Amino acid sequence: MRRILITGGAGFVGSHLSKRLVSEGHDVLCVDNYYTGNKENIAPLMGRKNFEILRHDVTFPLYVEVDEIYNLACPASPIYYQHDPVQTTKTSVHGAINMLGLAKRLNARILQASTSEVYGDPKVHPQVESYWGHVNPIGVRSCYDEGKRCAETLFFDYKRQHGLNVKIARLFNTYGPNMHPDDGRVVSNFIVQALQGKPITIYGDGSQTRSFCYIDDMIEAFIRLMNTPEDFSGPVNLGNPGEFSILELAEIVVSLTNSSSEICFKKLPHDDPVQRQPDISLAKEKLSWTPKVNLEDGLIKTIRYFELLIKN
Ligand code: NAD
Ligand code: UDP
Ligand code: UDP
Repeated sequence: MRRILITGGAGFVGSHLSKRLVSEGHDVLCVDNYYTGNKENIAPLMGRKNFEILRHDVTFPLYVEVDEIYNLACPASPIYYQHDPVQTTKTSVHGAINMLGLAKRLNARILQASTSEVYGDPKVHPQVESYWGHVNPIGVRSCYDEGKRCAETLFFDYKRQHGLNVKIARLFNTYGPNMHPDDGRVVSNFIVQALQGKPITIYGDGSQTRSFCYIDDMIEAFIRLMNTPEDFSGPVNLGNPGEFSILELAEIVVSLTNSSSEICFKKLPHDDPVQRQPDISLAKEKLSWTPKVNLEDGLIKTIRYFELLIKN
C-alpha cells in the first residue's frame, strides 16, 4: 500500500480518485484550498484511518512524505478559472513547480491532470496527442490553456533534467456526481436547470461539439496511467470519443429528466472551441482502456445525484 498525495482532492475528479484509492487501502493525503472544491465531496471519507485532508494552496511549497502524487489542483470550469486568471496561471505553473520539486526530493511518481484545452480551438479532428494545438495565448481562456501547457513543459523538463517518473493525462470533458451545482460547466448547468424547470442556457447556436466521459471511466484510466512502466509518460488523451453537439446534449437532458424547461440561446463566450473529440488509440494501446459508460447511462446516474442534492 502506498502513500498517495492528491492535490485538488476535494474537487469533482479528486474526490472520486480519493474514494477509489482509499477503498484500495492506500494512505491518501488530500490537499485543497477549497477554491472550487467542497468538503461535502470528501465528507464520507473523513472518519477513515487511511484518509487525511490538509487545507493548502499549491502555489506555496509543501513538505510531506509520499510515494505518488496526482496533481489535480486547478479550477476547471471556465467561469471559475476566468474569475481570477492570474491565480489560475499561478496554480498551474507554480503548483506544478512545487509538486515536481516535492516529487524530485522524494523520487515519487507524479501524474498531471492536463486537458484537451491544450489543443485550443483545434484544427485537427479528432485530436491526437501529436497535434500541437491552436491556442490563443492572450485570450480569456489562455490563463487555463497556457498554464496547463506550461505545466506539461515543466513535467517533461523535470523528466529530462532530473529523471523524474512523470505521467501526463489530457482529460476531455468529464462529468458525474460531485460536480458543484453552480460550477457553470455544461452538464451540471443543464441538469440543474432541467430539474428546476428553468430555461436551458445554450451558448451560441449549440452546434459546437464536446465528447463527454463519465467519471468512473476517467478514474480507472488515471490509475492505469499511474501504473504504466517508467518509460511511458504520455501525454495521453483520456475521454469518451462519443461526440455530441451542445444542442443534442440539451435535448437528451430534457428528455431524461422529463423536464418542462425550454431551450434558450445566449451569447457564445470568446474562444469557445468549435469541436472536440479525443482520439484514444494511445490510451487503448498503453492502458488497455476504453470508456464503458455511454452518455445516457452516465447522465442518468448524474441526474439521480443532482435530484437528491436539490431535494436536501
Ligand atoms: P474542480 O474545480 O472540481 O476541482 C479542482 C480542485 O482544485 C478544487 O477542489 C479546488 O478547490 C482545488 N484548487 C484550485 N486551486 C488550488 C490551489 N491553488 N491549491 C490547492 N487546491 C486548489 O475541477 P475538476 O473537474 O475536479 O478538475 C480536476 C483537474 O482535472 C483540474 O486540474 C482540471 O484542470 C482537470 N480537468 C478536468 C476536466 C473535467 O472535465 N472535469 C477536463 C480537463 C481537465
Ligand atoms: N518544493 C516543495 N516541496 C519539497 C521540495 C521542493 O514544495 O519537498 C518546492 C520548492 O519550494 C521549490 C520547488 O519545489 O521552489 C522546486 O524544487 P526544485 O528542487 O526543483 O528546485 P529549487 O529548490 O532549486 O528551486
Ligand atoms: N455551454 C452552454 N451552456 C452552459 C454552459 C456551457 O452552452 O450553460 C457550452 C459552452 O459554451 C461550451 C460547452 O457548453 O461550448 C462546454 O462548456 P463547459 O464549460 O462545460 O466546458 P469547456 O469544454 O468549454 O471547457
